[in-house]
Amino acid sequence: MNTHIQKIGKLELIVIQTQDQEPVPALEMFPNATLELLEVARAAQPESFGETGNDLLFTQNICLVRSSDQIILIDTGLPLESETSPLLEGLKAVGITPEHVNIVFFTHRDGDHVGGTFTPQGQPVYANARHIMARTEYQDYAKDEARAEQFQKFFAPLVRKNLLEVVANDAIIAPGISLVLMPGHRSGTTSVLLESEGKKAFLLADVMHAPVQVMHPDWSIKFDWNQEIAAKTRAVMLERAEREHILLAVPHVPFPGLGFITRDANGAVIWQNAV
Ligand SMILES: [Zn+2]
Repeated sequence: MNTHIQKIGKLELIVIQTQDQEPVPALEMFPNATLELLEVARAAQPESFGETGNDLLFTQNICLVRSSDQIILIDTGLPLESETSPLLEGLKAVGITPEHVNIVFFTHRDGDHVGGTFTPQGQPVYANARHIMARTEYQDYAKDEARAEQFQKFFAPLVRKNLLEVVANDAIIAPGISLVLMPGHRSGTTSVLLESEGKKAFLLADVMHAPVQVMHPDWSIKFDWNQEIAAKTRAVMLERAEREHILLAVPHVPFPGLGFITRDANGAVIWQNAV
């Protein structure tokens, strides 16, 4: 379990690795990819690949933001199988107990992002936190037939306990911390924008899954709800990240998953590790 802390102006961004890094077959993940293009990308970004261009390294990084008076957790990770989890161990390592978390924000409905909200006994892990989801994602999750059982398990108890707040897709959830709707992976996937003292960071929902998508924004992962919308959203996000020099925090790329969008000597858009 790894942790990393980075300053964004006066805000502190804490990244906790919550899943072991594993190779996944890139050609299977990205229907538009070719091995030839993957090998080119691997030469430029070897750290996000394994042995060959077809071995993309996946993990999960979960972000927290600490301001002068609040702690905000972005997603709760996989369901807890016991009293502890890699996320809870990571919190301990950085001196945060679950009771200290003021806000839990859910970027989207997937089990690896909303799963760790309750203990195996059904008690809220972050007992004192406001739990927040943006309106489009919440409404579509609530009527998502394929995830009806999961909704009942992870979200209905939050609603019953009056712990869930549904907010506007562009709400400001704390000073310098606002939501940005980025549909495609799911219909209401929502990222978080940090702004402090001229510095900015996007804590991305699953808008991209690998640095190779910076070179190929049209490569949507096979799990995306809508491949075309996902590609369009990703292109707009990358363009803004480059223009405004926004640090990207990406959940499933090798730890800590922090990078900037920049240009190589030939003017091609590339991912540059920030750490
Ligand atoms: Zn995910």
